[in-house]
Amino acid sequence: MSAFPQQFSRQRASHSAGKPAEDGPDLLALPHIYAPVSEPPQPPEVNFAAKLLRHHENIAGIQTGQFLPPVMVDVDLVDGVCNLDCAWCCQAQSRASRPARYMSEETMRRLGPFCHNWGVKAWRISGDSEPTLNRNIDVLIRSGQDAGIDMGLITNGVFLERLTTASALTYLGISLDATTSSTWSRLKRSPASNFRKIIDNVKQVRQECPQLDICIKFVRFQADESLGKNDFSNSLSVLDNSPSNQTGNGEDAEQLDKFSRDLGCRPILKEAYPKGLADSYVFSRCNATPLGGVFDASHNFHLCCDARSVYVLTDDYTRDDWRELPALWGSEKHQQLIESIIPRRCEGCAKRQVNEILQHVVMSSHCSSDYQVNFI
Ligand code: SF4
Repeated sequence: MSAFPQQFSRQRASHSAGKPAEDGPDLLALPHIYAPVSEPPQPPEVNFAAKLLRHHENIAGIQTGQFLPPVMVDVDLVDGVCNLDCAWCCQAQSRASRPARYMSEETMRRLGPFCHNWGVKAWRISGDSEPTLNRNIDVLIRSGQDAGIDMGLITNGVFLERLTTASALTYLGISLDATTSSTWSRLKRSPASNFRKIIDNVKQVRQECPQLDICIKFVRFQADESLGKNDFSNSLSVLDNSPSNQTGNGEDAEQLDKFSRDLGCRPILKEAYPKGLADSYVFSRCNATPLGGVFDASHNFHLCCDARSVYVLTDDYTRDDWRELPALWGSEKHQQLIESIIPRRCEGCAKRQVNEILQHVVMSSHCSSDYQVNFI
């Protein structure tokens, strides 16, 4: 039984119409609908990479070249358009490289049973664009729910009120990156009133889904040290070369813990990718992509969410009544596409630790012995 429900009051947050948003502790300026007296649930900490052990059969398939279906795929409900504009967005170049498209209801309905039958375990619903811009998002989530898919949604939260199926999710991540309306508005190039709308939306979901793991995600960005949105791919568009007026959000980061817990949410603080990240990789081959993939709104299947539009396995995953993609998976074409990946050209590889483990610990490389792999 949840520790949360009895702590809710029925009071709803209300805003004075037309009153401009103010700087400062925004939450304190709003009536709370939620007054937590205990911490959100905290699982025991394990190293993120330990999750790989759960999927040892997939790992064995990577070793032999007999790939099992991906464990988790990204599902992009929208391509090519976002309602915000973050200076550090690692997806901005991919987004700018293609036209705006919205996944059709028909595709959403087929995706659940298709993934179930193929063997996919989880969906991360996010994309290089904002998923809630697709007003039919509930159709996708019902499709995944009916098929028994484990689902997480990552959103900027501005249109979160469109979602009526949050209870079907395993987690909900709100990419907020600020704890004050003034910082949020400056970083996202959007009116400060939208920050307050997000907070209202989060409170509403918290009230309706007391068991749901809701995370406030915060990327700490420093303009002079972090990779900017133009830096992630040499082969995709450069968005603009005008000097950025962004500085950072370090002061807001100090408030993240209390801010999140006051909302009954879990804080997740990450550093923006530093400049020159790719030079620090200690792997030379990408072995990680058979663990995932991306179904986009335009029917492309990309090998990797961090290299959308660069490594595309098929331009129509619905082709041949959805039979082409499973046939391509593990084929010579697939293996050759993986061989063509040059990791140093991927500036923001989120799977860099997985790649390092696969190359040097799971497989044998010139430095495997340095890890003394038999001493466990
Ligand atoms: S090296 Fe990293 S970013 Fe590049 S394709 Fe592989 S997993 Fe993706």
